[in-house]
Amino acid sequence: MTYDLNNIFAKILRGEIPNKTVYENDHVLAFEDINPQAPVHVLIIPKEPYVSMMDFSERATQEEQSALIKAVGEVARIKNISTDGFRSIANTGEHGMQEVPHLHIHILGGRRLGQMVKPLKSRP
Ligand code: 5GP
Repeated sequence: MTYDLNNIFAKILRGEIPNKTVYENDHVLAFEDINPQAPVHVLIIPKEPYVSMMDFSERATQEEQSALIKAVGEVARIKNISTDGFRSIANTGEHGMQEVPHLHIHILGGRRLGQMVKPLKSRP
């Protein structure tokens, strides 16, 4: 899939749309989700144009990949959820129900989050 320069996160990266920045370095930007699903809901995105986790895993440099993973820990520490725990999610493609076509990792926490997805079959 070609990268859409007009996706909402590309506009945030260009400064065309404001964001509440939580953390930033040369390779990543982390900001508050506009529609939080938990007391803590932060999105971490690479600054480079990658459509999805698939695209990122295929094309990103080691430095970019390392920066993204390290940012997960940084955000958890900044938001004080590292001890109690949190969930990190990267929805990918149609089945993953990815809405914005720029790779983003959701960091969710601040309460017990419940079941992630429904089981295929409930246990007897
Ligand atoms: P997805 O469904 O693609 O995994 O998640 C997209 C996320 O982007 C959603 O949680 C949605 O609330 C968030 N989002 C969409 N538009 C904006 C925006 O303009 N600003 C911010 N901060 N978050 C956004």
